[in-house]
Amino acid sequence: MLGVGFDTLTRNDTIELAKRLIDEHSSAYMVTPNPEIVMQTWESEEVCAAVNGANLVIPDGIGVVKASKLLGTPLKERLPGIEIAAEILKYIAESGKSAFLLGAKPGVAEMAAEQMKKDFPGINICGMNDGYFKDDGPVVEKINAAKPDFLLVCLGAPKQELWMAKNRAVLDVGLMAGLGGTLDVFAGTVQRAPEFWQKLNLEWFYRCLKEPVRFKRIYKLPLFLVKAMGKRLRKIFNGK
Ligand code: UDP
Repeated sequence: MLGVGFDTLTRNDTIELAKRLIDEHSSAYMVTPNPEIVMQTWESEEVCAAVNGANLVIPDGIGVVKASKLLGTPLKERLPGIEIAAEILKYIAESGKSAFLLGAKPGVAEMAAEQMKKDFPGINICGMNDGYFKDDGPVVEKINAAKPDFLLVCLGAPKQELWMAKNRAVLDVGLMAGLGGTLDVFAGTVQRAPEFWQKLNLEWFYRCLKEPVRFKRIYKLPLFLVKAMGKRLRKIFNGK
């Protein structure tokens, strides 16, 4: 859809596939594009290849789900990365597997790990590293020494997608996932929108109100809508 090959999966199927990828342990990766990331794929071939090279591509943003309906190729449902990550962490804890937390400011992963230990009793957090490192080498070494089954890559988009695509060949992990601000939410340094806003599909607007600097990032979003509508009209008139 609009240049990104989303998987048309339900929430349950997504979690089942993620579990299978973890068990195969072949450094698979998952991305969770919202409209902002889809637009980044139009601007950079490298980002486009990184996003489309993922084993699992799920729609994090409501804008993506709406556009898919408009284009006649409906995605099943919005699958927020943080919710899928929570389901995977539950599986990790229950099956005695391990997770490594990569990203966010120094100290945040430690706080996130504490919360995860409360939310998913018995979970094995086998390592962590903040997201403000210069060289990949030592970080890759640290991750490979821990051999995590699940690697949360929270470096923001498109840095995390590029990082996973670049390093997958040298990493020894089960499944890794680009999860933006997920560690901040677990750590409590950032709050998710209350359910009321989520139900109205206005989580993105709530985040902008809380962090007004985000408005600068979404000013191009009308272009996403225009492009989706343009494609819809071409389909109607040309049958393409
Ligand atoms: N971040 C990082 N390294 C960087 C840039 C960003 O670890 O070089 C972290 C940042 O601290 C934050 C996350 O990446 O924890 C990005 O969060 P944001 O909510 O902006 O992600 P989004 O889901 O919107 O892409």
